[in-house]
Amino acid sequence: MSRLDLHLHTTHSDGSLSPADVIGLAYKAGVTALAITDHDITTGIQDAMATAEPLGIEVIPGVEISSQQGESEIHILGYFIDWQEVEFNARLAALRASRHRRNPLIIEQLQALGIDITYAEVRTLAGTDSVGRPHIARVLMEKGVVTSAKEAFDRYLAQGKPAYIPRELPSPVEAIQWIRAAKGLAVLAHPTWVKTTEGTLTDVVRLLKAAGLDGVEVHYSTHTARQTREYLSLAKQVNLLVTGGSDFHGLTKPDIEVGIGKGTLHVPDSLLLTLKQAAGRL
Ligand SMILES: [Zn+2]
Ligand SMILES: [Zn+2]
Repeated sequence: MSRLDLHLHTTHSDGSLSPADVIGLAYKAGVTALAITDHDITTGIQDAMATAEPLGIEVIPGVEISSQQGESEIHILGYFIDWQEVEFNARLAALRASRHRRNPLIIEQLQALGIDITYAEVRTLAGTDSVGRPHIARVLMEKGVVTSAKEAFDRYLAQGKPAYIPRELPSPVEAIQWIRAAKGLAVLAHPTWVKTTEGTLTDVVRLLKAAGLDGVEVHYSTHTARQTREYLSLAKQVNLLVTGGSDFHGLTKPDIEVGIGKGTLHVPDSLLLTLKQAAGRL
């Protein structure tokens, strides 16, 4: 049986396995076509393609861009992107730089509040992971400043708290425009994560569609059967393409496997033909 998996992370962002290792798992799982969609970076695609080709696996160049709309972080997937395009990669590099600038600023803020913590301590705890607020929360716990990660966020790290530093994220509309400028298809990732303060998910999706959104990730590891049906009907209603993938991260999300997610994921391989037609890749 052939399978698709259009949402995979590697060590080039926050996954724990190299592109070659991810391709190896995909081969074992019977995946015939996949997309590497690392966060804000395209450098894993080349290795993935080189490993996949002799195995007869097709690699669709992809990316996942973090964007912000109000309180909600919205992830936009890009497929069939011109991944070596200079301007696109420069935009992604600026995004990554802003992420790296943020963590030391959070530490400075905590120090200014009189807390004994250094960036080096957080770096050590994170090991090979890219540093994020969960690591800072863990150091605060180990030092006895707080008793839980939740308390670290509630007292210091969450939006509106004294050590909160905003991320400089693009809006979803900008992310969509960048992907389309790189000749890609823009797809709303895991719609279940979208927090809507005003209006419904359908309203949000309609606005994004007007800005150029091409598709929605209907099939996803944590979607229930009911959610999958809801998102399928949303895609039909708003006239969007349907995609799907596991969001595999390796050890970072140990319960999710390539190709099958938590065991029930099935991304119909007929989707690929429609995506290729839409991307003008046939
Ligand atoms: Zn995501
Ligand atoms: Zn992802």
